Amino acid sequence: MTDLFRATGDAGAAAAGTHRPARPAPAGPPPDGGSAEVRQAVVGPALARHCAALLSPAERARAARTRPPARDSFTVARGLLRSVLGGRLGLHPARVPLAARCPACGGRDHGPVRLMADGTDWRLSVSHAGLLVAVAVDYAGHPVGVDVETAARTADTRLLEPRLFGPAQRRRLARLSPGERRTALLTAWTGAESYAKASGTPLGAALARIGATVDDDGRVAVARPDALGGWWVRAVPAGAPGHVASVTTRDGTRLRTD
Ligand SMILES: [Zn+2]
Repeated sequence: MTDLFRATGDAGAAAAGTHRPARPAPAGPPPDGGSAEVRQAVVGPALARHCAALLSPAERARAARTRPPARDSFTVARGLLRSVLGGRLGLHPARVPLAARCPACGGRDHGPVRLMADGTDWRLSVSHAGLLVAVAVDYAGHPVGVDVETAARTADTRLLEPRLFGPAQRRRLARLSPGERRTALLTAWTGAESYAKASGTPLGAALARIGATVDDDGRVAVARPDALGGWWVRAVPAGAPGHVASVTTRDGTRLRTD
């Protein structure tokens, strides 16, 4: 099972007719305090079938009510999360105690997911877009936020640019190729989204506060932790071509990204 996840890149590579050997899976207790990890998987029918067997009965029922392709994204995200946590807890993924609760309506079939295991205060974050799902776990009990986006997304990106970048930065963006410009925008956006998720900052405020800048090569930087209330916003390599990903943790947190 774990090989499928370790083959995050391989899921796409397999479809393209190439192969890369899977790396060994991490297992056992989490690394020492002050650490977090982010794991990604590429959504596809084979992985979705595999993950369906890792879900709880309630999650399977939720998946059955969800229309494709969101069904596969949900199934793979929960399966990946269960696999990571199960490896750390020494539990079969299907036995990892997860519970969702909507902060708005109290509903238990949607909303942020939490780990209910005794003696742990691990914090979770999940994101999916396009073909990519990502889960983040903070093992020190600090809030964590992960966000992924796909370059295929076109709606509302024009509206986002002036909310993320000031006039000087926008002039620099305008000199980039359309692809570079879109990637830069999405990178800053995922940074702001991950910061909003981790810190609880409303997204509108997060977009303004993130302090995104771009250089002449299209590389994006954001404000340092001391300007963001101690939150460390990092872009991480996306697990699929044409996607971007960012993670926000508390400052000083070591982040494992493989
Ligand atoms: Zn709700």
